[in-house]
Amino acid sequence: MILTTTAPVARRETQAFLDQQHQLLIDGQWMPAASGKTFEVTNPADGKTIAEVAEGDKADVDKAVAAARRAFETGPWPAMTASERGKLIWKLADLMEQHIEELAEIESLDNGKPKAVAAAADVPLAIDLFRYMAGWSTKIEGTTIPISVPYLEGAEFHSYTLREPVGVVGQIIPWNFPILMAAWKLGPALATGCTVVLKVAEETPLSALRLGHLIQEAGFPPGVVNIITGFGETAGAALSAHPDVDKIAFTGSTEVGKLIVKAAGDTNLKKVTLELGGKSPNIILPDADISAAISGAANAIFFNHGQCCCAGSRLFVHRSQYDQVVEGVAAEASKIKLGPGMHPDTNMGPMVSRIQQDRVCGYLDIGMQEGAKALVGGKRADSSGYFVEPTVLVDTHAEMKVIREEIFGPVVAAVPFDDIDEVIATANDTIYGLAAAVWTKDISQGHRIAKRLKAGTVWMNCYNVFDASLPFGGYKQSGWGREMGYEAISLYTQTKAVTLQIG
Ligand code: ADP
Repeated sequence: MILTTTAPVARRETQAFLDQQHQLLIDGQWMPAASGKTFEVTNPADGKTIAEVAEGDKADVDKAVAAARRAFETGPWPAMTASERGKLIWKLADLMEQHIEELAEIESLDNGKPKAVAAAADVPLAIDLFRYMAGWSTKIEGTTIPISVPYLEGAEFHSYTLREPVGVVGQIIPWNFPILMAAWKLGPALATGCTVVLKVAEETPLSALRLGHLIQEAGFPPGVVNIITGFGETAGAALSAHPDVDKIAFTGSTEVGKLIVKAAGDTNLKKVTLELGGKSPNIILPDADISAAISGAANAIFFNHGQCCCAGSRLFVHRSQYDQVVEGVAAEASKIKLGPGMHPDTNMGPMVSRIQQDRVCGYLDIGMQEGAKALVGGKRADSSGYFVEPTVLVDTHAEMKVIREEIFGPVVAAVPFDDIDEVIATANDTIYGLAAAVWTKDISQGHRIAKRLKAGTVWMNCYNVFDASLPFGGYKQSGWGREMGYEAISLYTQTKAVTLQIG
């Protein structure tokens, strides 16, 4: 299943970027960490070091927040018109488009995902998000509100609202879609006129650093976007506890999400939006188009190696179709070619790190001990890279860890069901509520089920469909707030009510 051939080398410009000294972007300048420390970035396909980046911590976060504050209050940024802001964001998207191949290679070498996928999905989605948000810059409006105040009889007023940027935003992003998560965060912040300190994931800092160069080339004023590479417990924690940060937007684990909320509460009650874990149910009804449902179920769990917060990791299939579907998904899994992301034939790359590989395999071991059986896969693949075989688990039951906890790898647990009420109850029996899917030809039934599923996204007869205009986020412990769409704009702005007495 592992491709043994070595992957093609990176393009010249990609290699030149990797070989650079990678520093922090603060106040429009690239600079080393105050401590002088650096850390190594590895290619998860072979464990080899591909770059060395600055290890920012509290001192650097303090500097970056001060720069973002200056840029927000007095820089050219607040004086720019919404149209000028929109043009800059659009220009950034154009620059990214000119560098798609390079950005995709950086993403593949750093994260492990197939370059072809990064070039077809991650980078174009990021570009599209920036363009979508560029359009919003000029459409952020308040309202006029007729008021009548009972204790001021006869007085007349003119009341209206302004939607103003929240201010200095700390953004902390994960490693599963590095450039796309950077875009989801930066897009609405820039469209609304906020300034940003972006803390990228320590596993995958490189594409955001390349983006930092493009941000400078586009002409954003100094301090509007500051980029910190470093670790969560130091740089991330310093950002979430910083007294001069107005909002934290976080994507990552539910566990760290709770720490962020606590840090906000213990300091300045900064606003917090969170996009956290999931254990999304994918429900196949007996009348579904079974072959579409099988390939959809495989895509739901194996896309991005299962390293998706919305991965369809619990597969509920009506008992009448159960054997056919699980065997079909297992057959899809065995066709997947594992290999380095840079190899053109690779369908699935390695897990992002040894830690993630161990974590996923730990769940597999526990699952088997608890009585689950792997119809296909079930173990790490024999390689110097961090590969895990795509896995379909059967004979699972509701109390198993593989059913209850987020694995964040290419592992789906299949469960048969007999009736709709039962499957909806089981699907909703989770602390998470990020996404869900239902496969059926009975569209009315599909809509009824969509309404009863406790999830921020419900896909019908499809999976993993994203668009910059569709709000994405979680019910329950999957998060607070939404990303993308107008909802993201609203969460980077705050409302001011202004009242004038006119008579
Ligand atoms: P994962 O376990 O998948 O790596 P995390 O939630 O740990 O997900 O990481 C997501 C992001 O949160 C990363 O940028 C990481 O550095 C950051 N992070 C981790 N721990 C903390 C923390 N205590 N405070 C703030 N950010 C953190």
